[in-house]
Amino acid sequence: MIGNETGNTVIDIENAVVSYREDIALRGVSLRVKRGEFVGIVGPNGAGKTTLLTLVNGLARLLQGQVSVLGCQFTSGTGHVLRKKVGYVAQMMSLDPRMPMSVHDVVMIGRYGRLGLFKRPSKHDHKIVDKVLELVSMTPLANRPIGHLSGGEQQRVAIARCLAQEPEIFLLDEPTASLDWKSKMDILELVKMIHQSQKLTTLFVTHDLSAIPVSCNRLILMKDGFIWNQGGVSELLTDTQLSKLYDMPVHMVQRHRQEAVAA
Ligand code: ATP
Repeated sequence: MIGNETGNTVIDIENAVVSYREDIALRGVSLRVKRGEFVGIVGPNGAGKTTLLTLVNGLARLLQGQVSVLGCQFTSGTGHVLRKKVGYVAQMMSLDPRMPMSVHDVVMIGRYGRLGLFKRPSKHDHKIVDKVLELVSMTPLANRPIGHLSGGEQQRVAIARCLAQEPEIFLLDEPTASLDWKSKMDILELVKMIHQSQKLTTLFVTHDLSAIPVSCNRLILMKDGFIWNQGGVSELLTDTQLSKLYDMPVHMVQRHRQEAVAA
């Protein structure tokens, strides 16, 4: 823990305004997240979802408001401290298949924030890498070149790299984008398992309504740089709410039926 957390609150954002030069991306966002919570963040393109995550890992440019993460007040100097404690998984990027790094090497990158760039990984670091590879079911592919993996496998490695960092907060930004349906469902299942087993405070951003983890404790709907609504998943994942959010008719019925049948 960095500094003093207030009670059980690990993220405390008060009326945050964030801009990219003249563009305002967040227009007065307030959010509190408790340790161990699993929060889904949904909204149309440009709503400010990614920017909200950058506030949590200390990368945003805060114009107004206050941000405290893991008890650490946001200032220009706190970003690097926070980034050791806050893990971030982005959407899949295309990799050069000739990239000369194994899966194990890539996951080890997650250790360098703690190690320092020029220190050699110890036995302990290798043990942690092996443990997280096991957790994401990638042990059999540990020595494979990173460019020789499927999209779903690459995302498992990205999640393992993030966990190797031993973060206290787990940020996922569209981790299932450009994955096929089966790989998407597998990654959602993996994220759920990690949240349940590691008790990590988790923020999961998506604009894909079929990728909202049903295990979220809370769903936040964002629009135009604001938190437009928040509440329980079943309360907010309704055609009425989503049609208003996206300014177009949205029908979620099929997904719920499928889940009900699967359960
Ligand atoms: P998406 O679902 O498309 O990723 P988002 O909800 O994550 O969108 P943000 O990426 O946070 O939204 O963007 C919010 C606003 O800030 C948008 O209007 C976007 O154009 C703007 N923006 C984001 N990043 C930058 C940047 N690096 N420079 C300038 N403007 C930016």
